[in-house]
Amino acid sequence: MKVGIIGLGLIGGSLALDLQALGHRVWGSSRRPETIHTALESGVIEAYFPIGSEIPQDTDLVIICTPIDGIIPTLAQIVAYLPPSTMVTDVGSVKSPIVTPGRALWHNFVGSHPMAGNNHSGIKWAQQNLFQGRPCAVIGKAGETLTDRIGELWRSVGMEVYFCEAEDHDRAVAWVSHLPVMVSAALNLACVQEQNIPVRILGEKLASSGFADTSRVGGGNPELGRMMAQSNRAALLYAIDRYQEVLAEIKEQIALEAWHELEALLQNAHHLRQSYCN
Ligand code: NAP
Repeated sequence: MKVGIIGLGLIGGSLALDLQALGHRVWGSSRRPETIHTALESGVIEAYFPIGSEIPQDTDLVIICTPIDGIIPTLAQIVAYLPPSTMVTDVGSVKSPIVTPGRALWHNFVGSHPMAGNNHSGIKWAQQNLFQGRPCAVIGKAGETLTDRIGELWRSVGMEVYFCEAEDHDRAVAWVSHLPVMVSAALNLACVQEQNIPVRILGEKLASSGFADTSRVGGGNPELGRMMAQSNRAALLYAIDRYQEVLAEIKEQIALEAWHELEALLQNAHHLRQSYCN
């Protein structure tokens, strides 16, 4: 296939590398000239075409990998130049604000969300196999030609594909992606509330794998975190409220020295985690 990738950061750059390794011809576009230069120099893409001008007429698929608020404006800029058969998808972490206008702008548009990443951003972090073994949401039903073809794309880079509706996707990721970012960010911010400076510094020295696990997603791309919250506000607020209720229950059990109840609650947490991380 000939594939165009717009937005050559962590996700777009990594996808370009994987697709080229699979033998696809990949052209790209991005916002800053230095990013395009790096992408061409390092072989992340084989050609560059500016957004809002002619693109190769044999392009089978365009994947929009810009920040969330750039996805629909980018699609609006390219539709006049797309061959009618070209498929378009995006990778935005929120789907409801994207798929309805996306479909209105382009008949061959299907939203995606590859659930892969790390706490880096930008082309210099692009890496092969970022998507391997991770889940990916494709918005729509299995059995429809376009959604099936987009599903095949993500399977080809090693992802497990789940078809769903945009609203269900956004509610689900509020729990498993957006809430963890905010909780983890709160942890990072809370630690520095320690007023005794030598103790705080000792904490920094003693922080090990447990802290690394729980603080990682809160230390990621701040622009991405802000856009997740902005575009999935209601679902995220609902999840934060429920989280605060559970945290208040834990706090109360500690305050009341209800150790038996606390252990039972932690036992339940131990079992429930296996449904999410197996
Ligand atoms: P990123 O590393 O910051 O990459 C985004 C790139 O888009 C930037 O490098 C920027 O390139 C380019 N860009 C920004 N505005 C643009 C525009 N108007 N037109 C063209 N290019 C533009 O971010 P990312 O983590 O790859 O995230 C990209 C998308 O993936 C987001 O929609 C996000 O929701 C989604 N996503 C992220 C993750 C994750 O964990 N990181 C996971 C799943 C999905 P320049 O250098 O040219 O400015």
